[in-house]
Amino acid sequence: MRRIAVIGARLISVALVAAALIVAACATTPTGRTQLRLVSDAQMAAMGSTAFAQLQQKTPPASDPKTMRYVDCVAEAITRTVAPEETWEVRVFDAPEVNAFALPGGKIGVYTGLLKVAENPDQLAAVIGHEVAHVLAGHSAARVSNELAAQLGVTVLGQTTGVDPQLIGLGANLLLLLPYSRADETEADVLGLQYMAKSGFDPREAPKLWVNMSKQGGGAPPEFLSTHPANETRIRDLQDRLPQALPLYEQTRAKGGQPKCG
Ligand SMILES: [Zn+2]
Repeated sequence: MRRIAVIGARLISVALVAAALIVAACATTPTGRTQLRLVSDAQMAAMGSTAFAQLQQKTPPASDPKTMRYVDCVAEAITRTVAPEETWEVRVFDAPEVNAFALPGGKIGVYTGLLKVAENPDQLAAVIGHEVAHVLAGHSAARVSNELAAQLGVTVLGQTTGVDPQLIGLGANLLLLLPYSRADETEADVLGLQYMAKSGFDPREAPKLWVNMSKQGGGAPPEFLSTHPANETRIRDLQDRLPQALPLYEQTRAKGGQPKCG
């Protein structure tokens, strides 16, 4: 009886230590969701850079300087407004995919295929705002943390400070493979609409972008895979949020902060 009590007490203390570590390893998103966070910002940045380098090896850059200046202009207007403390690197990939992404460590990628669907700078800003929101809200860190916890168990909790090359390689692969959750997608839509409006892009173009997307024969682009809300729901939700986003746009416009990327 006593032995069982001792074992029980030990199990409880192990569980308490694990719980304490997990509590310590949680982060809160800008809209107040709690996320598991087992990796540091430095580790996430290293994973993002590794993943970005892999994508750059696979896909050639766009060669038209005008296209690059255009995408840079839109991306820069957003990052300057919402995350000026970070250095951002923008790459335009010469590929037909209707896609874009942002990675921790300040990396943004846009595929030339997206520029055929995003008809103006405001619509491109809607996509880039959404992608940057995924990074700033810590969605990538949470995705990697959840998967590392599942694959490696609590042992990873002891390694959160070092930049172990194996861990970085594993995390970079996860960044490229794991889809965002549906809750992440909704949050990135909410934040992305605010980001674009604050940066001086017309938020009324965001639902129009999704109308254009839904007209695409091939369905949703890769980043917007299965977990994304259905197009009709998303368009309606974005329209419903315009009354909050429009004043942000008007304020920036009144201050003359509207970017000229056309
Ligand atoms: Zn997304």
